[in-house]
Amino acid sequence: MMRTAGQDERASLNVSGTSSVYGVWGYPVKHSRSPAMHNAAFAEMGLNAVYVPFEVEPALIAAAIDGVRALGICGINITVPLKELAAACLPDLDPVSQRLGVVNTIVNRAGNLTGYSTDGPGFMWAIKSLGWPASGQVVHILGAGGSARAVADSLAEAGNRLLIANRTRERAQDLAAQVNKHFPGQAEVVAWGTSVEPADLIVNTTSVGMHPNEGDCPPVDAELLRSRPRVYDLIYAPEETRLLSNAKQYGCDISNGLGMLVYQGALSLSLWLDRPVDTIPVLAMEHAVRNTIAAK
Ligand code: NDP
Repeated sequence: MMRTAGQDERASLNVSGTSSVYGVWGYPVKHSRSPAMHNAAFAEMGLNAVYVPFEVEPALIAAAIDGVRALGICGINITVPLKELAAACLPDLDPVSQRLGVVNTIVNRAGNLTGYSTDGPGFMWAIKSLGWPASGQVVHILGAGGSARAVADSLAEAGNRLLIANRTRERAQDLAAQVNKHFPGQAEVVAWGTSVEPADLIVNTTSVGMHPNEGDCPPVDAELLRSRPRVYDLIYAPEETRLLSNAKQYGCDISNGLGMLVYQGALSLSLWLDRPVDTIPVLAMEHAVRNTIAAK
């Protein structure tokens, strides 16, 4: 979609002929918080780099990937609905992307493109940063969409047992089968809304309760909350979903998905810049995302 210069007064960046270019592809992409987050990181690190959104039609994904090479774009993030399509067009995928068949990050190393998937690793980093145990846990996953796949894969790889519940049971079965293909016996399907199987951690990967439907809540049996599992909601707007406030009333430790968003971005940056993750300014990135949420 074409934009006219000056339509967005906030877009005042120092860009020169020597700036490195990064970006995010989506369809649509205008909701993405990644430009604010990554440009804040570049500014904090004092890098001559710019990160821009591109609305890419799914049918043009192969041309867009050729464009990365042709234009010398250094790195790209990929969001819905392009993650699977992009993976199919890339010559090299990291092991996580190979298992999942999706990418959310492309790294351009002198014209050689490699695809990565940092959503699951970003989720694991978020859990660890909260001081929550990240292995040997029983994890109840609500949902079986794209984010559930990434989260389930990384949780299984870290040695957790997964109980997967989804409104559409067949999708939960597909996800459990995909996990068990790579990590045998680690995933099973449980009933949506009525499961009382005890868990150490509940992860909501559904969009239920997301702005503007703040009043909605995925069904979680009170019995399950009574044993005070930790509860992580991938949603970060609103800051506290109905699910999280319910869980808090039962004395559960809770977290929204802001950490996952920031850490998956920080992992992409670390790959693009070939720098250790602990040198990435995650606080500046989090601050930038919070500002975009407050501005809505
Ligand atoms: P998908 O569209 O791939 O999956 C959506 C999931 O939500 C499916 O399991 C779907 O169930 C379920 N769902 C949707 N509506 C309902 C409903 N009314 N009742 C019950 N279940 C429902 O989306 P994603 O996995 O990409 O994203 C899901 C959420 O995670 C979004 O809120 C997104 O913003 C958030 N997210 C956060 C990230 C972060 O970094 N914090 C990263 C990625 C996503 P069914 O199969 O039955 O349709």
